[in-house]
Amino acid sequence: MPLAESKRDYYEVLGVDRTATRDEIKHAYRKLALKFHPDKNKDPGAAAKFRELAEAYAVLSDDAKRKEYDTTGHAGVSERWSPEDLMRDFQFGDFFGGRFGDLSGLFGDLFGRRMRPGAGARRGVDLRYDIELTLEEAARGGEREIHLTRSEKCTDCGGSGAKTGTKPLTCPDCQGTGQKQDVKMRNDMRLVTLTTCLRCQGRGHIVDSPCPLCQGGGYQFLPHALKVKVPPGVDDGMVIRLPGQGEANADGGPSGDLLIRPHIRRHPVFERHGADLYTIRPVTFPDAALGRKLRVSGLGGETLQVTIPAGTQSGTALRLSGKGMPRIGEKGKGDLYVVVEVRTPTDLSDRERALLLELANLQSSDDVKKFGSHPS
Ligand SMILES: [Zn+2]
Ligand SMILES: [Zn+2]
Repeated sequence: MPLAESKRDYYEVLGVDRTATRDEIKHAYRKLALKFHPDKNKDPGAAAKFRELAEAYAVLSDDAKRKEYDTTGHAGVSERWSPEDLMRDFQFGDFFGGRFGDLSGLFGDLFGRRMRPGAGARRGVDLRYDIELTLEEAARGGEREIHLTRSEKCTDCGGSGAKTGTKPLTCPDCQGTGQKQDVKMRNDMRLVTLTTCLRCQGRGHIVDSPCPLCQGGGYQFLPHALKVKVPPGVDDGMVIRLPGQGEANADGGPSGDLLIRPHIRRHPVFERHGADLYTIRPVTFPDAALGRKLRVSGLGGETLQVTIPAGTQSGTALRLSGKGMPRIGEKGKGDLYVVVEVRTPTDLSDRERALLLELANLQSSDDVKKFGSHPS
């Protein structure tokens, strides 16, 4: 599909060098985006400028996309990522805090139907939402309430954008197709270019008297509370998809999805490796030498027993089978490893000092056979 307009270089759009660091790119984007933000800048060209900026930033702020762009340019990027994919992970909230995803309607117009004329009713835009969980919450799973603001079909006009009692009219410029054909002859070749109808912005209809509630846009931004089921054992990097809970589509297409990304907070006592947990248990030198049973706490606060065998070296990991994290999508749990850390005593009492001296007279660190493999 030939695109009517030629695209500007992303670096040029952001006004940075090709060698710019991520921070420089971010800084440049932020400055320009605030300037051209449609809420602030009422200039008719501002929205288009803002979209161009956001697209440039979405590509240049992502290492993989930037690399592709650097080597193959616009062509390579558009081959690997659909316009929707390009913007999908892009979080406006990063910069425009609070009103999460509130600009995605703007991009839906550009990247949805406009670039795929004739594709019919498109899906609403996917939303992304990050949740933070403690390790205990990740182990337990369960329900979690989240709050977000998303665009919904306007309650007054049902998404048509037309004032109550009026109807949108079929666009007379494009007869409702949303696109215009431009035919050119060049050296006996007929070149047909499809461009978006300017009058209706590709929607196929125009609104004479706009709905006062949504100003003709067909959308409202409404706060929502949703219940999310968090599966036990959830981990960083996973995505919980809630179909149809993304942004609405006023043109009659289905809503986008809501993608929940969990982030597990670091735990002060347990370290997670997949389904296994690790915890450090300090023990005294006599306990490590003589062996004993010790109590440790599991992640759920339960008391567990671990046997330190006589002669345990510092750093030994003792396995408590099935006491780790639930395995997601499988039965059973990972293991809990208790890592023994032998502590050298400090602040000795006279009695302890005397006993250690007595021991020291029996054992010497110079005794290579018994204590070391590095003869001095
Ligand atoms: Zn039109
Ligand atoms: Zn409305």
